[in-house]
Amino acid sequence: MGLRRFLVKASEIRNRKRLWPISTRSFSNISSQIQSTPASFGIAFDIDGVILRGETPIGGSPQALKRLYNNSGALRIPYIFLTNGGGFSESKRALELSKLLGVHISPSQVVQGHSPFKQLVDRFENELVVAVGKGEPATVMSEYGYKNVFSIDDYASFFENIDPLLPYKKWNTKQTDYQNSNFKDTALKNDVCSQRVQAVFIVSDSVDWSRDIQVLCDILRTGGLPGREIGHQPELFFASDDLTYQAAFPAERLGMGAFRIALESVFNKIHPKALKYTAYGKPNPFVFNTAEVLLRQLAQSLHHNVHNATNHANVGNHHLKTLYMIGDNPSVDIHGARQAGHPWFSILTRTGVFKGRENHPKFQADLVVDTVEEAVDYILRKES
Ligand SMILES: [Mg+2]
Repeated sequence: MGLRRFLVKASEIRNRKRLWPISTRSFSNISSQIQSTPASFGIAFDIDGVILRGETPIGGSPQALKRLYNNSGALRIPYIFLTNGGGFSESKRALELSKLLGVHISPSQVVQGHSPFKQLVDRFENELVVAVGKGEPATVMSEYGYKNVFSIDDYASFFENIDPLLPYKKWNTKQTDYQNSNFKDTALKNDVCSQRVQAVFIVSDSVDWSRDIQVLCDILRTGGLPGREIGHQPELFFASDDLTYQAAFPAERLGMGAFRIALESVFNKIHPKALKYTAYGKPNPFVFNTAEVLLRQLAQSLHHNVHNATNHANVGNHHLKTLYMIGDNPSVDIHGARQAGHPWFSILTRTGVFKGRENHPKFQADLVVDTVEEAVDYILRKES
């Protein structure tokens, strides 16, 4: 597949509905019922260590979420997922969560670490950018509107011997269209290798740290032209900066923040200027502001009849007295909610990173509970 065909493909994806910013219509399929009184509160759930461990629901999460819907399965309480994880599009993640948790979840209810990258598309829409991480990082970026994006797997495949350890790597990697195509050695290769990479997006956890650190140092030291002379560092964005997170293994796993430290340490040793980067995700206040806007829009759309066009102008102005953040990571979920301040109320569960008996000494939550089910029970009792 040639670059041009790829660009057309990316542009087709882009012409589908953009998920961000959210329109009133995005919520229109959530509830067909008109609520008499609008909800005065909203809930943001972290996923890993609160709702799921790996792919297994924990802490009574399916039962807890079911209580946020009415008997006919329509949403009655505005809630979203606010996760630093990612690697797949919001629509794919919503579908997967719906299956795992047994309730209907709309893509508009899923905010991932990389969701803020949607707002950078105007700056890099036609520029060559590289997307790093597990899952489908380039597809995620294409869906956001980036027209000239390559995954680091594809990008690295254009440069012979860029990874000296490749012959020793025994795992099987899925060959993509580019890697299989004859263009790799001809037009597309020349085209990609001669273009400057203008930005790198760490969309999700790096799968091959050694190759990614090597190739990223090549891109970032040379002004986006691996193998060439030292140049101005292209922009670098991380979807999150979590040092650790709770996955299926009993002890926490190293997250994107750990990868950032590794990349930064190496880069700063071999380059005269320190690495510059921007990290999104919790606890960044930007993420909590975005979550508040989404929850207000969602609350409004649940209250008003979606057929009443005059109400659309007010969407987003709906007042919510309390916003609950339920998370397992004190330095990410609780720190973020505390920094965001009123009307956020933080609830810390013991099903993930935090396992203490009392409150966390540094990032104290407003409430500490064992499970997400307990948290939802507390909220519904308090708000009834
Ligand atoms: Mg978590």
